[in-house]
Amino acid sequence: MSASLRRVAPSDILPGWIEVADRCFIGRHQPYDVNSAVIVGGEGVLVVDTRASLTQGRELAEQVRRLSSLPVSVVVNTHSHFDHWFGNGAFPDVPLVGHESLLTDLAAATERGKREYPADDVASTDPVPVDTTFSSVWASELGDRYVEVVHLGRGHTAGDVLVRVPDADLVCAGDLIESSGPPSYGVDCYPLEWGATLQQVSSLIGTGTVVVPGHGPPVDKAFVLEQRLDIVDVGEQIRALTHARVPVGDALAQGQWPFPAEGLHDAVRRGYEHTTD
Ligand SMILES: [Zn+2]
Repeated sequence: MSASLRRVAPSDILPGWIEVADRCFIGRHQPYDVNSAVIVGGEGVLVVDTRASLTQGRELAEQVRRLSSLPVSVVVNTHSHFDHWFGNGAFPDVPLVGHESLLTDLAAATERGKREYPADDVASTDPVPVDTTFSSVWASELGDRYVEVVHLGRGHTAGDVLVRVPDADLVCAGDLIESSGPPSYGVDCYPLEWGATLQQVSSLIGTGTVVVPGHGPPVDKAFVLEQRLDIVDVGEQIRALTHARVPVGDALAQGQWPFPAEGLHDAVRRGYEHTTD
């Protein structure tokens, strides 16, 4: 990827966090290099993604308390992958917001997280799922600002949502966008739809918008457009290979992929499954 990683100053309130826009803080956490966002309004705080275990969620909750004396009034999960929501239990008594498909995928997502990442704190977490779901859009008042949560289509998963703070010109994109490495195509991805979803995303952001990926440093619209082109390319190549009747087992070797081929096994397999014509 060329350029477009945004330069930001570290937060002087809490080391390890950056204030990427007015009262919008990003914490970049290990393991998994996952971002959490803290949006502070006049009367409450919205937290985006709660990390990969209850222990990590509790660490996050303590950091949120240091960033703002206001109470957490809502938590948003950007999608079903464990590293974005297994910490929900550290935020009791607040709405846990996510796309309606998260409840459909709950058992599988929980099992996958524990199987693929058998760390003690992950394994011992009894994760608390979202309790406030929506189909296309949800909004929250935080006092002097409001926040939109929108589902623009499938891509990285079935239930990807974005968190948008209009007054700060900030969008948290979850794993629809990644800047720490190539986009992650997993067993639950929608490779043929991802590019179209990012087209919708790009319509919501301007040249000055701060875009926070699920993993990696903040980026701008140019980065999103460039990554979208590569994701469209993956989808188009999969379609072309299916139309050419290339066996799925041979497809990965025959494509000219914009990302390392070893990360595209599930993209190809899922794309073949999703091709109906
Ligand atoms: Zn993910």
